[in-house]
Amino acid sequence: MKFSLDKFTNLATPFYYYDLSLLEANITELKKAANPEYVVHYALKANANNRILEVIKNNGIGSDCVSGNEVKKAVEVGFKSSEIAFAGVGKSDEEILVALQNDIFCFNSESGEEIKVINELAAKSGKIAQIALRINPNVHANTHKYITTGLEENKFGINLWELDSVMELLKACKNIKLLGIHFHIGSQINDLSNFKNLCTKVNEIQHWFEERNYKLEHINVGGGLGVDYHHPDENPVPDYKSYFEVFEKFLELRKNQKLHFELGRAIVAQCGSLISKVLYVKKGVNTSFVILDAGMTELIRPALYQSYHKIENISKVTSENQRYDVVGPICESSDCFGKAVMLPETIRGDLFAIRTTGAYGEVMASNYNLREKAKAIYSDELEF
Ligand SMILES: *Cc1c(COP(=O)(O)O)cnc(C)c1O
Repeated sequence: MKFSLDKFTNLATPFYYYDLSLLEANITELKKAANPEYVVHYALKANANNRILEVIKNNGIGSDCVSGNEVKKAVEVGFKSSEIAFAGVGKSDEEILVALQNDIFCFNSESGEEIKVINELAAKSGKIAQIALRINPNVHANTHKYITTGLEENKFGINLWELDSVMELLKACKNIKLLGIHFHIGSQINDLSNFKNLCTKVNEIQHWFEERNYKLEHINVGGGLGVDYHHPDENPVPDYKSYFEVFEKFLELRKNQKLHFELGRAIVAQCGSLISKVLYVKKGVNTSFVILDAGMTELIRPALYQSYHKIENISKVTSENQRYDVVGPICESSDCFGKAVMLPETIRGDLFAIRTTGAYGEVMASNYNLREKAKAIYSDELEF
């Protein structure tokens, strides 16, 4: 991603910068790599910015929601209701009703208790709710523990030993139609062998259903494909080809069975950067601090899961010869974007880019310390 400094200089900081042509290029690669029979849903929770959603929707991708408001947003923006999947371990009655009213494609249902509630609400609304069972496959994702979701110790999904009783329960649910099974083992997964393990588990689970004569129209393997936070310029688009090949090779689809994906981070992470100005440079005991005007209120990932983001001083072209801790202005010691970061000599007023913030950046913003919400700026607004 190239930054045009002269165009950034007069803009109020901090702001989220989105390169929409990179987003387009990403989706082009995704479509090239995916079997045309695959159904890809975009996970709105990664970035629900209107302009971003429009680009994704215009490319004919479906949506994956985890709240009633996300369902509403997806519909408002123009995603087809018939392509909305709705997951979430704690769907409220109101949220379920929103989804029913909009005749969404599928509830990814996470417990027997939830299935009963969906059935009751569907009956009251005079609807048949289509569901998939979100099954906890007990498969490792080998990612940060806060973004691991497919282990028995996690709160998500129906455990394998509960399947019998859930299938029994479904027989009594007249307003529910079971379409398929759903999995989502975690996020920022770069070792594709984790997805291979998921495929093996899904194949076993398919057998379980077949032995009992249950027919599944679709398998949904969720999202979780990771991106390269360390080398955003070398790898601006994830290796979709290898990713889809794993499923092509190892997942045993039945005749006419559809395979669904729910990708979030992989699509949007690299198209975003958080642009911030240096307020102060402060000498500490063993290190110097660069104090930015952006903090954990604009990008919480480093504070929340100690995640790495590449940090660049885009005002300087000189070599990186100094070590700094790069921090925000928020009154929390965890408000730190990077420790011992090698940067060119930095002064007040320099502009910084924190890279790969298109996913789980702006959507997780808060107004802690009564901070203003940072604006979003789009690459096409700066072209003239
Ligand atoms: C968060 C989430 C996704 C997307 O995850 P990424 O790691 O951003 O691809 C997909 N499906 C479900 C159910 C989710 O909760």
